[in-house]
Amino acid sequence: MLSLILEKIFGKKSQRDAKKMLPQVFKVNEFEESYQNLSEEQLQAKTAEFKERLKNGETTEDIMCEAFAVVKNACRRLCGSMITVCGQEMVWNMVPFDVQIMGAIALHRGNIAEMATGEGKTLVATMPLYLNALTGRNCQLVTVNDYLALRDSEWMGAVFRYLGLTVGCLQNMQSPQIRREMYACDITYGTNSEFGFDYLRDMGMAMEPAQMVQRDHFFAIIDEIDSILIDEARTPLIIAGPAGNSSHQFDELLPKVSELFFKQNALCSRLGREAHELLNKPDRTPEEYEKALTKLLQIRFGMPTHKQLLRAAEDGNILKDIERLESRVRSDNNRGLLQEVQAELFFTIDEKGHESDLTEKGRNAVSPGDPEAFIMPDLLDNLHNIEIDTTLSDEEKARRKEEFQQEFGKKSERLHDLSQLLRAFCLFEKDVHYVIQNGKIMIVDEHTGRVMPGRRFSDGLHQALEAKERVTIEEETQTLASITIQNYFRMYEKLAGMTGTAETEANEFHQIYKLDVIVIPTNRPCIRKDYNDSVFKTRREKYNAVIEEVEKRHALGQPILLGTTSVDESEVISRLLKRKNITHNVLNAKQHQREAEIIAEAGQRGAVTVATNMAGRGTDIKLGEGVCELGGLHVIASARHDARRIDRQLRGRCSRQGDPGSSKFYISLEDNLMRLFGSDRIVKIFDRFGIEEGEELQHPWLNRSIEKAQCRVEQHHFSIRKRTLEYDDVMNKQREVVYGLRKEALIVENPHDVLFGLIEEVIFRYIEDAAVQKDSGDSQNESETRYNWDYLLSWLHLNFPVNFTVETLSDTPGEAPKDANALAVHICTEVEKAFDAKHADLSQEEKSWLERRIVLEAIDRLWQEHLYEMDHLRSSMGLRAYAQKDPLIEYKNEAFKLFSDLMMRIYREAAKNLFRASLTTADQWEKLIRSMPQELLHQQLGQFDAHNIEDADMLPSGDDNPAKGVTIRVERPGGKIGRNDICPCGSGKKYKKCCGK
Ligand code: ADP
Repeated sequence: MLSLILEKIFGKKSQRDAKKMLPQVFKVNEFEESYQNLSEEQLQAKTAEFKERLKNGETTEDIMCEAFAVVKNACRRLCGSMITVCGQEMVWNMVPFDVQIMGAIALHRGNIAEMATGEGKTLVATMPLYLNALTGRNCQLVTVNDYLALRDSEWMGAVFRYLGLTVGCLQNMQSPQIRREMYACDITYGTNSEFGFDYLRDMGMAMEPAQMVQRDHFFAIIDEIDSILIDEARTPLIIAGPAGNSSHQFDELLPKVSELFFKQNALCSRLGREAHELLNKPDRTPEEYEKALTKLLQIRFGMPTHKQLLRAAEDGNILKDIERLESRVRSDNNRGLLQEVQAELFFTIDEKGHESDLTEKGRNAVSPGDPEAFIMPDLLDNLHNIEIDTTLSDEEKARRKEEFQQEFGKKSERLHDLSQLLRAFCLFEKDVHYVIQNGKIMIVDEHTGRVMPGRRFSDGLHQALEAKERVTIEEETQTLASITIQNYFRMYEKLAGMTGTAETEANEFHQIYKLDVIVIPTNRPCIRKDYNDSVFKTRREKYNAVIEEVEKRHALGQPILLGTTSVDESEVISRLLKRKNITHNVLNAKQHQREAEIIAEAGQRGAVTVATNMAGRGTDIKLGEGVCELGGLHVIASARHDARRIDRQLRGRCSRQGDPGSSKFYISLEDNLMRLFGSDRIVKIFDRFGIEEGEELQHPWLNRSIEKAQCRVEQHHFSIRKRTLEYDDVMNKQREVVYGLRKEALIVENPHDVLFGLIEEVIFRYIEDAAVQKDSGDSQNESETRYNWDYLLSWLHLNFPVNFTVETLSDTPGEAPKDANALAVHICTEVEKAFDAKHADLSQEEKSWLERRIVLEAIDRLWQEHLYEMDHLRSSMGLRAYAQKDPLIEYKNEAFKLFSDLMMRIYREAAKNLFRASLTTADQWEKLIRSMPQELLHQQLGQFDAHNIEDADMLPSGDDNPAKGVTIRVERPGGKIGRNDICPCGSGKKYKKCCGK
């Protein structure tokens, strides 16, 4: 209340802020006057002078007035000169007005300048862009579409070039080479999605520093900032590509796998029956019990969800005994007990480990002639054998290696597909885990039992299910990288924005982006006449009234702009106009350049233009001759939008720069806004006054009450956006960590250290894990408390071609290592030696290239998988709200778990590929990635999109106590500090060299 009173006396805060800038504006003008006496060279020399002064310690704030004055003076000198903009000649005729200088100051200081349309925001931006570009860093102007980026960069480019700065412009289809040049300029114009996608490609996909195009995230001015940060807040930028399994072999494998499945199923049923008989024998011996357990364990290995096993395991004691037997069998794999137990099966399947594998018996069953067809050949051995074969020429060697690697790739894909098919058969049941609707496999959420349309299992599993159910196998796509636009822009050191309408959302800008809105007064007072809203009962009546109004004004020749909230509605109105033979243009936000032209023409005598609110943004409408006398442009809106901001924007389309103009809104009780959020009081009034068909209601009170409804919607949408942002924050923190690691690997001079940092880390983890991996259960058994060297050694041998033995690694044979740290360093050094030996013939450059790729490949593959999982996790969260849990907290917890897991998996993957990658494989992989068609997605949601509203229902009621700042702890797996991390004691040393010693 107090603020309201203060506002009445002193004006709004945002307006007071504008007034405070007046002294600086005067200063700019003083400087400018003095520059008028300079020669052209002297003025142009100012650029170099400013750069020098900035280098010598002055700040951009210090030189602001002078720099703006230089721009103003340059504009003055350019007046009358011809410039070419988008292929058309035009005369430069602008010198910044005082209010434009105010706007420039607001932008330079990182605010949102609210300036009405036609106030010349394009020119305003030149001043802060020039000033900030003097630092030598890349300054960017973000436009709403490609056409405006091109137009404005060419138009304003005249000033920048005159002053010796370079200007670039991003366009949709540019090559990376061109893009890099554009970013190398002092100032770059482009749309938000061009900037965002370039970032994603740089950070998530570039394989060499030379492939990156952006150089800075320093200062950006976002034009129509409300449209970008609010309207598009919920549509992330996504780069999607095929998931790499397009040449799958499911069709070929299906008959084999289904046969295997039936055989195994029959086998398990038999084993189950036999176990059942043994267990129920009245005079059962311990041996017979053991035998029964073994049979059950066999089922567990072969078909973990088999009914008979599940039934037997209902008895907790039996279950425990099976588990105990399993851990014994697994730990004793040296003696072949495991193989013995598994030999009878056709394949084994690990429910948790996402893996399944054929046994020898299975291999014989699927390909009787050629059991090798389903065995992975030893990559290293084979390559090595080719290498040392002295009978081969170098060319022959290269050819054979290539051949072998292709064969290898194909085989590993076949095994992968087979394994997924087996899982599809054994672990996934129709109508439990998935359903088939319209020939598509739909996943059923296990928590809620709801079908989740559009979701797919990853990694080829979904395709395997499609093969199993004999429906069309669809092409897999996966997200390769994604970011929301807001998160992209939050990375900038300084952000500023311009728009005709920000005030209503000032709170949101401040809360989320720390951007303050400063309302800049118009150059000339605005004389627009805003009529009261007309409210009708039905839509039909409303449209009739609209058309009547158009007819009346059009007959006099007054230009009319008809704004609608949706494309549908503009089509309805267009039909009605046609019926009345009124010639008109229809615009929806699709063809930017034509659109800009049509909108620019909308002020001509007799013009009727139907447009959605978003169409032709950023273009201002000038009045044609004789139109002023007719009352200027008349704006008709066929509905209130759900945000007041958009309505103000529409109104702002007329009466630019002191022109005459008028506006009027038409509303019906059937409009979405009124239906969903309108107050009952309005409806009651209609009843009370007995409003008849065709009659309308008008009153200032009604306007206010409709605005209240809009406020409610705005609030509602704000809370959804805020919530979305809180979710995004989790992802954002993770992205920062992963992209940070990726960038380090990408740009460091010596990727060797990064790579072996990871390797050492993962070795250390395994050394530690080997202690935990001791057999659980009976601690009376002495061997079970011993350190599990087998576990460590088998992992080492699987990945590194170094002959580690217990003797060489253990200080006291058989005992746990005394100093895990030292052991990790020791092993890593040996691995490093082997790696160096393997690649002794490579040049330093080639070796670095390879090392870099091992790291990048590991990060990319697993990060992309992680994106998929996170996406899935998030979509399952809405449903958990029903379970009385705060989904955000649940989400954070689970996201954290997934993330710790991710980091560990990245390390493991790097270790796995260390000796598998070669120059050729890495090269092939890269070619594959590049050849994949990529799709850039950035869709817009309609304001009343079904799931917008639905999402709102899923919001937990806890919104009143918003989560305080999202934090995700970035820790290493297991919550420990990484050995190569900076020590938390603040010494600045690596942890392993400091407190972690
Ligand atoms: P906005 O983006 O604010 O709607 P624009 O940048 O498209 O406005 O400019 C609107 C029109 O005003 C343009 O035609 C431009 O030529 C004109 N204009 C802007 N600033 C000036 C100025 N200082 N002097 C004369 N004309 C100007």
